[in-house]
Amino acid sequence: MSPPAQPVSPARLLFSEEQLRRRVAALGAEITRAYAELPESLVVVGVLKGSTLFLADLLRSIRLDAEIDFIAISSYAQGPDTQSGVVRIVKDLDHDVSARDLLLVEDIVDTGLTLNYLRRTLLEREPRSLATVALLDKAARRIVPVPIEYRGFEIPDVFVVGYGLDFQGRYRNLRAIQAVSDLARLANEPRLLEPAWWRNT
Ligand code: 5GP
Repeated sequence: MSPPAQPVSPARLLFSEEQLRRRVAALGAEITRAYAELPESLVVVGVLKGSTLFLADLLRSIRLDAEIDFIAISSYAQGPDTQSGVVRIVKDLDHDVSARDLLLVEDIVDTGLTLNYLRRTLLEREPRSLATVALLDKAARRIVPVPIEYRGFEIPDVFVVGYGLDFQGRYRNLRAIQAVSDLARLANEPRLLEPAWWRNT
């Protein structure tokens, strides 16, 4: 008699809470060194909503005079299988950023379309400098080449959730980053990942 089939987990741990903590602290230290001689405070720009958890941790590792601002954009299509074409800004910056040093904080760069659009939009405002920090980089999926000055991790072509990243609005509050193998199943059974809330290491 064959053994009972094991339920296939819809997600696997990609980066633990501890791995994220260490990498984010290292990025903060790198950014602190790079911007040691700023004439004015650094404007740290979070891209809503995915970057918020990363931004909160990163900012506490940046030992510089800094300010926060946020930008949000809408896309033609959202989801892992659709190519997102950015339409417009739905929440603009509060700052006038001309002649300022900008650090754009992205959760993940996939095709590069979003970052490319954001960079072009921000550069039109003539900042003194513009650099990007992205926690995750799916380099193999790139359509548009975009510079990423500070990068957390390069990842393969997998769909990830947690630490700010969502699927259909959920899972941003997972403390670790999980790779989801079966999105269709997760869409039907959204509470499938519930045990992962506590599986952080
Ligand atoms: P891009 O314009 O580079 O193709 O896509 C960037 C955006 O797509 C990200 O800011 C994020 O919202 C979404 N995205 C791309 N890959 C993933 C992923 O694996 N997981 C999640 N949750 N969002 C993703």
